[in-house]
Amino acid sequence: MAFNIGEKPGRGRYQCVFSDDVVTLETDDDALPACPNTDCLIAHETRWEKAKFSKNS
Ligand SMILES: [Zn+2]
Repeated sequence: MAFNIGEKPGRGRYQCVFSDDVVTLETDDDALPACPNTDCLIAHETRWEKAKFSKNS
């Protein structure tokens, strides 16, 4: 399942399906940002998936 920029799927780690960049949402009220990867910013097509791995940080 993929999420778009601005969605609020809940706290946790999310991984960009294109560049593998990972962002962390600290609370359920945080919205997914644009991907920090320059290629994704140009493409405007960022999709986020729940990160498969579960490191603490
Ligand atoms: Zn990306």
